[in-house]
Amino acid sequence: MSSAERDVDVAANVARIRERIAAAAARSGRAASDVLLVAVSKQMNAARVREAISAGVTDIGENYVQEAAQKRAEVGEGVRWHLVGHLQRNKAAHAVETFDIIQTVDSLRIAQAMGRRAQAAGRTIDVLLQVNTSGEESKFGVAPEALPRLLDEVLGVPGVRVRGLMTIGRWDPDPEAARPEFRLLADLARRLRERTGAQLEWLSMGMSHDFEVAIEEGANLVRIGTGIFGPRGR
Ligand SMILES: *Cc1c(COP(=O)(O)O)cnc(C)c1O
Repeated sequence: MSSAERDVDVAANVARIRERIAAAAARSGRAASDVLLVAVSKQMNAARVREAISAGVTDIGENYVQEAAQKRAEVGEGVRWHLVGHLQRNKAAHAVETFDIIQTVDSLRIAQAMGRRAQAAGRTIDVLLQVNTSGEESKFGVAPEALPRLLDEVLGVPGVRVRGLMTIGRWDPDPEAARPEFRLLADLARRLRERTGAQLEWLSMGMSHDFEVAIEEGANLVRIGTGIFGPRGR
C-alpha cells in the first residue's frame, strides 16, 4: 500500500460525496435517494473496496473483467458489480459471469454474445447502452443517431435486459463543458421511452469532476472513483 493510499479516508470521502449528491439532487428537484452511487474501484485493492462497503456503498464499478473477478472473489457477495470499461467481444462470456450490470454495450454483436452466455447460465444480464454523446473519436459508445436502431435490436436479444443509457462526458477542467452531453443523453432516453415503451430507468452519467452537473441534468447513477478512493497510481 502506498502512503497516498494509506492517507485516504474512504468513509469520510463517501460521506462528502453523498452530501454533494444530495445538494445536486435537490437542485434538480429530486431526493438524494434517487441517485445511485457506484464506487469505481479500478486499481484499488479489496481492502479499499471493503471500506467503501462498510461506509454504505452498495454498488462497485470496475473497468476490467479479470481485475473485477479477482476482487469480487476476495470481497464476497452482498454488493452489485458494474462493468464500466469497454469490453472486447471475446470477454463477453467472462463479463456476464463476473458482473451484475454491464454499462458499456455499444453493439448488437456484443449484446448477443452476452445474451447467449446469460441464457446458458439460466439468467438474464442487465445492460446499459453506452452512447458517445461528445462525438470524440477516442470515445467508445454508439453515436446518438444510431442509438434508436441499436436499442430496437438489443431489446430483441434473449437473455439481455436493457435497463438504461450510459455516457462519459468530455474531459474538461470545467465540468460545465459536459452539460450539453448530459442533457442530450437525458433527451434521448425520454424520446426512446416514449417511442419504444422501454423503461430505460437508469441514466448513468457523471464522474468525480462532473457528477453534480450530470445530476442536475437528470443522472440517477453516478460513477465515482477518485472522489472516494483518491488518485490512482498509473
Ligand atoms: C474510471 C472511471 C470512472 C471514475 O472516474 P473518476 O474520475 O475517478 O471518478 C467513471 N466512469 C468510467 C467509465 C471510468 O472509466
